[in-house]
Amino acid sequence: MRRFRADLHIHSCLSPCGDLDMSPRGIVRQSLDVELEVIAVCDHNSAENVGAVMRAAAGSGLKVLAGMEVHSMEEVHTLAIFDTEEQAMAMQAVVYEHLRGTNRPDIFGDQVVANERDEVEGFNDRLLIGATTLRLEEIVALVHHLGGLSVASHVDRPSYSVTSQLGFVPADLGVDALEYAGEEIWDAPREDGSRFPAVRFSDAHFPAQIGQRFTVFLMESASVEEIRKALRGEGGRSVVTS
Ligand SMILES: [Zn+2]
Ligand SMILES: [Zn+2]
Repeated sequence: MRRFRADLHIHSCLSPCGDLDMSPRGIVRQSLDVELEVIAVCDHNSAENVGAVMRAAAGSGLKVLAGMEVHSMEEVHTLAIFDTEEQAMAMQAVVYEHLRGTNRPDIFGDQVVANERDEVEGFNDRLLIGATTLRLEEIVALVHHLGGLSVASHVDRPSYSVTSQLGFVPADLGVDALEYAGEEIWDAPREDGSRFPAVRFSDAHFPAQIGQRFTVFLMESASVEEIRKALRGEGGRSVVTS
């Protein structure tokens, strides 16, 4: 059992608001520079750059999890974090079925699909910044069905968060943790009387932001199942700092 520094909310150049320097190699280089050991690439409503970042990290010692930041019908952002690209692609297939519109690069920015050598493979023309027609609870259930972790994004931010859209954190919200952007952690109760675990990740859109917020997990290895146990405090695993 050891400590892992994790930043599980990093956007790549596929997100229209993500910097072009957030290329697969750029993300890996910066993550290693700031001594992260586990990251997750979570682009808006898409996982098309996840595999490239995973391959760019091969042999570097950096563990890359396959993620996505899904935009619910209620305009709430949630992270979906998986072990494999295949799981993220299964999630993406459902998200794409429930996503309308075409990107306007002049307004929202380019959505660059890159490979592990940082070459441009193409441009995604879906409106990735838009809301899906999936309800928040449907997204959480789907993530769990596919074996992933579900985390409510930046719950303390005044936009696109559970609190900004619903007014509070529902006790029956099925997420595995709440991600905070600020210093204060809330005493948010769950249905069973326990409290929602708290995590902090960077939500980086630029290289310099990677690892600016991170969470330290005490666990056996860097996997979704180990992180789930750490969040639950099972088998000696824990969240050391967030
Ligand atoms: Zn967000
Ligand atoms: Zn984000």
